[in-house]
Amino acid sequence: MQKIQNYINGELRAANSNKWLDNVNPATGEVYSLIPDSDAEDVDVAVEAATAAKKMWAASSVQDRSNFLLKIADLIDANLERFALAESTDNGKPLWLATQVDIPRASANFRFFATAILHQHNEAYQTNQEAINYTYKKPIGLAGCISPWNLPIYLFTWKIAPALAAGCPVIAKPSEVTPMTAYLLSELCIEAGLPAGVLNIVHGLGPKVGQRIIEHPAIPAISFTGGTKTGEGIARIAAPMFKKLSLELGGKNPNIIFDDCDFEDMLNTTVRSSFANQGQICLCGSRIYIQRGIYDKFKKAFVEKVSQLKVGNPLDKDTNTGAVVSEQHRDKVLSYIKLAQEEGGTVLCGGEKLSPKGFENGFYISPTVIEGLNETCRTNQEEIFGPVVSLQVFDTEDEVVEYANATFYGLAATIWTSNLKRAHRVAHQVDSGIIWINTWLLRDLRTPFGGMKQSGVGREGGFHALDFFTEVKNVCIKL
Ligand code: NDP
Repeated sequence: MQKIQNYINGELRAANSNKWLDNVNPATGEVYSLIPDSDAEDVDVAVEAATAAKKMWAASSVQDRSNFLLKIADLIDANLERFALAESTDNGKPLWLATQVDIPRASANFRFFATAILHQHNEAYQTNQEAINYTYKKPIGLAGCISPWNLPIYLFTWKIAPALAAGCPVIAKPSEVTPMTAYLLSELCIEAGLPAGVLNIVHGLGPKVGQRIIEHPAIPAISFTGGTKTGEGIARIAAPMFKKLSLELGGKNPNIIFDDCDFEDMLNTTVRSSFANQGQICLCGSRIYIQRGIYDKFKKAFVEKVSQLKVGNPLDKDTNTGAVVSEQHRDKVLSYIKLAQEEGGTVLCGGEKLSPKGFENGFYISPTVIEGLNETCRTNQEEIFGPVVSLQVFDTEDEVVEYANATFYGLAATIWTSNLKRAHRVAHQVDSGIIWINTWLLRDLRTPFGGMKQSGVGREGGFHALDFFTEVKNVCIKL
């Protein structure tokens, strides 16, 4: 059975303990590879390697760093099929989705930050005739990057590429549930000739490997994407150590549909924004608010389309939704569907555990639409992170803004309307870091990305990400 290796000091190696964890293919339920069950000792070795590389990497020219990142981007593109198959097998997502979205985005992340760093600029201020001030951006030092399982290599590279571009050696931990593409990436880094210690990937469990990265005194910056509860624990450890923190956490995103929208466009996109990647994208809209005038029409058309989604083998070209990531996650999602019914909700379609022929041991759930719940119930408050959405009717703009803002989360919101003034008005009132109007998941890597309230702290994307990994100093010169 294939054994995934840690990537430390430029080399592939097992955990010091030589212990291993099972890596399961969620489409079949079978263990198909093993990953190092690393612990604090492995993180400490990675920190030593990164510390040894720190001065050299910070002093390297931006062109050199840019060239390394561009080389890695090209290698990812050259390995598209291998990476896509690995991502689909590890995560359960359709192969076509990994091929069209996850892997191209991983190389785009490297390419974007490889070129952005060439354009990072400083500020200068003349203070009367007395002095000149200028800013100087210094790499912050070692960066700890921790990412989740839903978009494994997409989010992993979204963190490590800006850190490396900014001149920071990295100690990174992918989710233990989906480690394969991060491992393949370490092979490519070796092929690209990335200097030893610049990127270190330590596989293993969050409470052991992740925790040590957070606690390690030599790591001054932590970039974390994952659940709100985990983020809270991380902040508790890192804040008293005065570490710089970027936390991209959970969401319970509203999808607000006014009755003057372009119905067909809205309907097709809403099916996607609800169920893409089995609903396991932090940006999926899980609370759908529909204005009364089109509620019945929407409900009928939406349920019809959702019922036609094909759930099954992620490797089939015509599969719409594959397996959810694990047995444990499937059971959690199913428990929320049960809760929704206990809270008085009606399941309009889906709601079941599925066992597609030939894949009886995989983890599948039929895309689920629920109605009849109010905005305060747990189903509409807590992040389910699966193929489950809830429909709710509204009459006025004020009312829907109140519903939209009625959770502790504030990551993303979608607004559908043809009324431009209303679109801006509502966009400004909804408490979300990211707002899409008449579209969803249209991304420009230069834009700030992040959440309000319990969806996170800080912004990633563009120069925001590069700034996070740098310390800005001001130099004042008396004239
Ligand atoms: P988790 O918070 O469980 O895990 C995220 C990462 O943190 C994993 O690598 C995990 O390791 C690690 N981890 C777990 N415990 C600790 C710890 N004590 N110290 C340090 N690291 C730890 O999230 P999931 O992997 O379940 O991902 C789903 C969540 O991610 C959802 O809430 C989703 O909304 C959120 N998310 C947010 C995004 C955003 O941009 N805002 C984007 C995508 C997802 P291990 O896997 O071993 O447990």
